Amino acid sequence: MTETIFSKIIRKEIPAKIVYETDTILAFHDIHPKAPIHILIIPKIEIPSVRELASREHAFLLGDLFDAANKIAEIFGVKEKGFRLIFNCGPDGGQEVYHLHMHLLAGKKLGF
Ligand code: 5GP
Repeated sequence: MTETIFSKIIRKEIPAKIVYETDTILAFHDIHPKAPIHILIIPKIEIPSVRELASREHAFLLGDLFDAANKIAEIFGVKEKGFRLIFNCGPDGGQEVYHLHMHLLAGKKLGF
């Protein structure tokens, strides 16, 4: 896989406003937020998109991503009010960075 800007963020070679980190996951503020709270949650291993996910091989990773989303919602105090999780996939899905990532959007009532 071709390396993306997110690999440099994982290695801390370029700055990001990190909000949560484990041995498998990194989460940081989106540089162009689309909501008052806009966090990107990424696996540290390089997978380009959800198209490359294999259900058994990556089961742990999906668990880690959703666990991180819930922890981040708690950190930002939005677990009760709610939040939106989005995976963009491929050109028609609006994906710009080909390192799998989950968007967590919150902080206002979101339109569709
Ligand atoms: P996608 O469109 O691929 O689903 O989302 C990629 C997201 O990454 C975009 O919302 C974009 O604003 C964000 N992004 C791109 N480059 C950077 C960067 O260098 N730092 C941060 N924090 N976010 C980035």
